[in-house]
Amino acid sequence: MRSLNFDSKKPLLYLIATPIGNMQEVSPRTIETLQNVDLIACEDTRVSGKLLSLLGISKPLFSLREHNEVSASEEIIKKILSGTKVAYMSDAGYPCISDPGARLVKLALQNGVNVTAISGPNAALNALVASGLCEDHFYFHGFLDAKENVKLEELRKLATREETLIFYEAPHRIQKTLQAMFTILGNRKACIARELTKKHEEYIRGGLEELSKIDPETLKGEMVIIVEGSLGEIKPDVNNDEIIQMVKNLTSMGLSTKDAIKKVAEATNINKNYIYKIYHVN
Ligand code: SAM
Repeated sequence: MRSLNFDSKKPLLYLIATPIGNMQEVSPRTIETLQNVDLIACEDTRVSGKLLSLLGISKPLFSLREHNEVSASEEIIKKILSGTKVAYMSDAGYPCISDPGARLVKLALQNGVNVTAISGPNAALNALVASGLCEDHFYFHGFLDAKENVKLEELRKLATREETLIFYEAPHRIQKTLQAMFTILGNRKACIARELTKKHEEYIRGGLEELSKIDPETLKGEMVIIVEGSLGEIKPDVNNDEIIQMVKNLTSMGLSTKDAIKKVAEATNINKNYIYKIYHVN
């Protein structure tokens, strides 16, 4: 179905990308849109309220967050269909990108409401373009699962992808995630992009092995991890010390020795009895 957004009798839902740290990153078009709508739906009314007050905009706010996404989306679509002009913004960056909004967009389209996005900042793209690892193709994964076993499985599935990989991560999980990445993906080039657009913005470039050894106390704030894509088939080109270290990394993350050996065998294509032997001899 074709739909012209700005030359149509259909109502229009505005998705607004908001700053990821630096409040100067609000475009004149964003301000104009926010001034022209009747209602601003947002993930957290306190967070968006602060931004709007900085911009000198006062509008009714309506909360649409992960926990009420279904009912709030229905409510918002009803309001749009009865003539209310609505914009939606999440706490930072683009709605729908590791943030609520996708359900609202689908419901809008199902109900004959057009959807447009007002451009703005996004953490994944800032990190990617400045990382030095930007190639023609990339894959955005967002957050890995918090459970270590599921995380390792997710990484194993990603291990053969040739595109540059993009992850979001929280500071309390960064070290374990980097260790898991090193174990499963090997010593690929990577970059931690921290506190983007803020005063303490930092890019840490290096191999996954080196990055996984950084003191997590120095990795605070918000961060994106960019990892080089697979350079071809994963070959068992690791030496015995590296294999043993991989098993140790996994057992220190809570896996049993048996499970850790199994994971390392899968990741490296090395026979698990061989890994068992070298691990237990040492
Ligand atoms: N919707 C957002 C976007 O478009 O980028 C992402 C929201 S997601 C809930 C929050 C995660 O994005 C953070 O945990 C972090 O991984 C990443 N992020 C957000 N702001 C960031 C910043 N200023 N610097 C680095 N990473 C950031």
